[in-house]
Amino acid sequence: MTAKIIDGKVIAAALREDCAKEAARLARDHGVTPGLAVVLVGNDPASEVYVRSKGKQTRAAGMNSFEHVLAADVTGADLIALIGKLNRDPSVHGILVQLPLPKSLDPQKVVAAIDPAKDVDGLHPVNAGRLATGLPALTPCTPLGCIILTKTVHASLAGMDAVVIGRSNLVGRPLVQLLLNENATVTIAHSRTRDLKKIVRNADLVYAAVGRQEMVRGDWLKPGATVIDVGINRVPGENGKDRLVGDVAYDEALQVAGAITPVPGGVGQMTVACLLVNTIRAASAIHGLPPPKV
Ligand code: NAP
Repeated sequence: MTAKIIDGKVIAAALREDCAKEAARLARDHGVTPGLAVVLVGNDPASEVYVRSKGKQTRAAGMNSFEHVLAADVTGADLIALIGKLNRDPSVHGILVQLPLPKSLDPQKVVAAIDPAKDVDGLHPVNAGRLATGLPALTPCTPLGCIILTKTVHASLAGMDAVVIGRSNLVGRPLVQLLLNENATVTIAHSRTRDLKKIVRNADLVYAAVGRQEMVRGDWLKPGATVIDVGINRVPGENGKDRLVGDVAYDEALQVAGAITPVPGGVGQMTVACLLVNTIRAASAIHGLPPPKV
């Protein structure tokens, strides 16, 4: 039997619809229109595509989108001054600085300048610390999407054995914390892990966030495991065009796993939808309203 395919496209579309309903409710009942400010520095083509897509989806959900494009040679002081302005702007509830930044800018300093209450990327040390100590926090969008996808397969993750491959601040580490909050038993693996295959073999839930194409093979998996593939790797395809592949050997895994996310069409779809979720959560919290239904 082949695995159930977890359709990120459909699940993300439903989540965006829920966000639109919540945004409409906030506007109708409380006069609050959630607003997201995205700051792009330079003209990296991939980042430009992401920023455009974020703006489009924010507006489609009935929320305000503010886009700020700065030259690649902007100074750290000028970028931080803009963030300060957005921190003080009452129409802005979420601030996202598109990463990566040009090498001349220190991403840690830039992220630290964002008001933690508006940190919809969940990268500010205050939010990372709150998440790690089990307090309510704005959490990074990609791991949040991974949990939502997993829960379309398993209503409860309590007691399940999970492995997270990758320990970045953006994906692996916050994902571990979210899984702990769901009462899963979590192993975190990284480039120094010994015998990764053996660790993966024991896992009911496998999260691959590495950036190495098709590293996780079908014969590593426990039969019936749920596999969430975060990896996005560009490889040469037909007609000289690149195609995207994940960190999991999809065709092999399909024969062994119980459920799996495709690449593209899996986790990637959820990331922007979760950005809308975080903006609505931030807007509600800033206005002292109860947590929204997303
Ligand atoms: P990253 O910062 O480069 O982290 C990669 C992690 O993988 C590191 O912790 C590294 O270990 C680990 N690793 C490297 N080689 C390994 C190996 N041979 N065995 C086990 N672990 C290994 O990357 P990231 O930002 O977390 O992103 C990971 C992947 O997810 C990338 O393909 C990225 O494009 C993709 N991504 C997708 C989305 C989405 O929306 N779908 C969002 C974000 C990222 P060390 O810590 O020991 O170096």
